[in-house]
Parts: sequence; structure tokens; C-alpha cells
Amino acid sequence: MSSQPKPRILFTRDEIDATVNRLAAEIKKDYLGKSPILIGVLKGSFMFMADLVRLLDFPLEVEFIRLSSYGRGRESSGKIKVVQGLRSEIRGRNLLVIEDIVDTGLTISFLLDYLRKKKPASLKLCALTDKPSRRQTPVTIDYLGLTVPDKFLVGYGLDWDEKFRNLPDICFVE
Ligand code: 5GP
Ligand code: MG
Repeated sequence: MSSQPKPRILFTRDEIDATVNRLAAEIKKDYLGKSPILIGVLKGSFMFMADLVRLLDFPLEVEFIRLSSYGRGRESSGKIKVVQGLRSEIRGRNLLVIEDIVDTGLTISFLLDYLRKKKPASLKLCALTDKPSRRQTPVTIDYLGLTVPDKFLVGYGLDWDEKFRNLPDICFVE
């Protein structure tokens, strides 16, 4: 059996809660009355999305989109595809993309371009974590949770070879 890395905590459940609460307050202030569609990027954003929307007590919709990116390795290939698209009409709607992490920025840049072509009324990005040291293309993060060091993160939705998504803390592996 291949040996598994042992995740170490970077941000605890309490620190994540405080961050999600802060982001929810910012988003509520800007989107109250705008019936936004929150678009989660699968799979990594599922836990963040679930915690975030519970704090947004106003009308909104939830969608998910799935992109091919990392595969099983750690490096972004830069070749990105939509493998599971949206079910609702997004033209003329206020869209807020919910991402787990912006690393090189290639994935999210692709997605924002893809969505912009569908002519939404507005398009913004909320990312729980940002790894700016690895950026290859500029990305504007409208709602940013936590800036993280150049480590491979797991937990709170993020995986290492599909494992560790269920950890309640944001951890890193070496
Ligand atoms: P990017 O295209 O910005 O390099 O990477 C985007 C995607 O790669 C993220 O949405 C995430 O799914 C994955 N990713 C980037 N950095 C990490 C990391 O540290 N840990 C994990 N588990 N996934 C990452
Ligand atoms: Mg992701």
C-alpha cells in the first residue's frame, strides 16, 4: 500500500468559521435584493458553499459547475474544459462564482471568460483561499477569505488524490 501524507492544520474550523462569516456579511451587503446565482466550482467548493449559503438569508440560487483541471497530479495542466455545465439561464443574472482556491489562476480565468460570454448582468468571484505566490495570470478576487502560503492544501473540500476532502480544518501536506 502506498503511504499517505499526514495532513497538518493550517487554519482551524474556528478560523474558517470567522472567515466565512465575514465573507457572508460582505456578500449580503452587496447582493441583498439582487437574487444572485452562486456558482460553486466542483468539487472543492462544496463545503464552503454549504457553509456560506446558510449565512445568506435572502433569495438566491445555487448552481455548480465542474471543470477538468488538476486530474490526479498537483500541477495545473492549463488545459481546462467544462465537464458539467449549468442548468439555469444565466444571461442577465447576477453571478457570483464560489471557488475553493486560486492558485495559478488559469482555471478561474478560463471560467470567468466562459461565463462572461453568456452575458450575465454582473460577474464576481469569491475565493476562500488565495495562493498569490503561484499566480501565472492576473485574477481579481472580489471577496477573498484567506491568503495561503505555497503549500498543498487539503481538507474543507480540498483533496489530495480525492482524499481528505472531509477534514473539517484547512490543512497542508508535504
Ligand atoms: P489553478 O488553475 O488556479 O492553478 O488551480 C485551480 C484549481 O486547482 C483549484 O480550484 C483547486 O481545485 C486546485 N488546487 C490548486 N491549489 C491546490 C491546493 O493547494 N490543494 C488542492 N487540493 N487543490 C488545489
Ligand atoms: Mg477548485
